[in-house]
Amino acid sequence: MLLPIENRRYANEITADDDGERVSIAGWVHEKRDLGGVLFLIIRDRAGYVQITLQKRRVEKELFEKAKKVPRESVVVIDGIVKSEKKAPNGYEIIPIPGHGRIEILSVALHNLPLDTTGKVGAELDTRLDARFMDVRTERTKHIFIIRSMVQRAIRDFLSERNFIEINTPKIVSSATEGGTALFPISYFEREAFLNQSPQLYKQMLIASGFDRVYEIAPIFRAEEHDTTKHLNEAASVDVEVAFVSDETVMKLLEELIAHVYSTVSLYPGLKSINVQLEVPKIPFKRLRYDEAIEIILDAGEQIEWGVDLSSSAERILGEAMGEHYFITDWPYTIKPFYVQFTGSKDKGKGKDTCDAFDLMHPRLELASGSQRVHSYELLKENIESKGLSVDSFEFYLNAFRYGMPPHAGWGLGIERLLMSMLELDNIREVVLFPRDRRRLVP
Ligand code: ATP
Ligand code: MG
Repeated sequence: MLLPIENRRYANEITADDDGERVSIAGWVHEKRDLGGVLFLIIRDRAGYVQITLQKRRVEKELFEKAKKVPRESVVVIDGIVKSEKKAPNGYEIIPIPGHGRIEILSVALHNLPLDTTGKVGAELDTRLDARFMDVRTERTKHIFIIRSMVQRAIRDFLSERNFIEINTPKIVSSATEGGTALFPISYFEREAFLNQSPQLYKQMLIASGFDRVYEIAPIFRAEEHDTTKHLNEAASVDVEVAFVSDETVMKLLEELIAHVYSTVSLYPGLKSINVQLEVPKIPFKRLRYDEAIEIILDAGEQIEWGVDLSSSAERILGEAMGEHYFITDWPYTIKPFYVQFTGSKDKGKGKDTCDAFDLMHPRLELASGSQRVHSYELLKENIESKGLSVDSFEFYLNAFRYGMPPHAGWGLGIERLLMSMLELDNIREVVLFPRDRRRLVP
């Protein structure tokens, strides 16, 4: 039977002004300091740290011994009297005096901890990910995930204030979004199915439904075999689609969203335990055409041909040249998916046809991709064929273009990319609780 934990309070809900009051706190034994005649327990809860002070002479023997023996990271509930104490964290300590004291051990931790939760002894990322439940007990990691939650809420607030409808599309699908091989096949009863690599086709279909502003925040699955610091096999994407607008309008929406997220997070006090100074990026972001990007890359001495996608080192060169967030626009038509709108005339005759696609770049990496979409059924069908894909497997999608489809534009933004770049973290796995990559399926 669970003991009553009356008046349980978080560390930050008690102050020195509560001097003399009886309180209950519940949490983990973060640290123990045994000075012989006096024993300090530092209890950690979600909000912070509380010092429990036990004077050997002044507390019941049994209680003192119990406190002395409790292993670090055990879960306890402690009752005592608040005493104002300048030297303690938050300016108070709790004293379990006789008659008003209680220390209950609700769960005993093993002695050999996989990690040091005080963060004094660092650990490799792999060790931390293997014991992620415990890694989140450290200040730095805890704040990363509180910030991730803030970011997702800020995105939802921003988009719902602008009258967007949040949608949910299937993650088990029958065909590829963009073709290609980067799909995880799964067995679906008697058939083969796949994990969705993007909600692209479904969000476009909802534009035909009349939901003229939609968004989804959901996982995307990419079966790419890369093992880099910026790719996951399961990532989270913010996908947006808007009807009756051009690509320029959704680029503006995207840069405003980024600025909104930064300014929300910049107010968060927990940022200091991640050691980052957050400056809200200035909007509008610079626009760089793909052909201008190629010039910059060539000038830096790196080989690149018009018509190829940018390598990581090309992205780095551009990042150094630009120094802040920027868009790359006017991409070669050949390297973008079939649903992207062909620009038509920028460089006709030289084989350098461009399309109305854009990427949002942070100086370190790509954050988002978007475009004006094709909304003509005939053109879309033609594009699917000319990219070597099967029209039959896109029938369900194409159908939505035959009964009234407005012009539309949209983008997909990687949440982990946004977080890792904003918080200046080296590895994308830092911002995922339980990352999925080439080597990691557990925990
Ligand atoms: P990259 O070229 O950087 O691998 P991409 O162009 O293949 O990315 P898109 O298909 O454009 O990715 O997906 C839209 C956004 O989703 C990307 O800009 C990125 O922020 C995010 N994203 C895509 N793939 C991954 C991945 N494997 N891991 C983490 N985020 C991803
Ligand atoms: Mg992209």
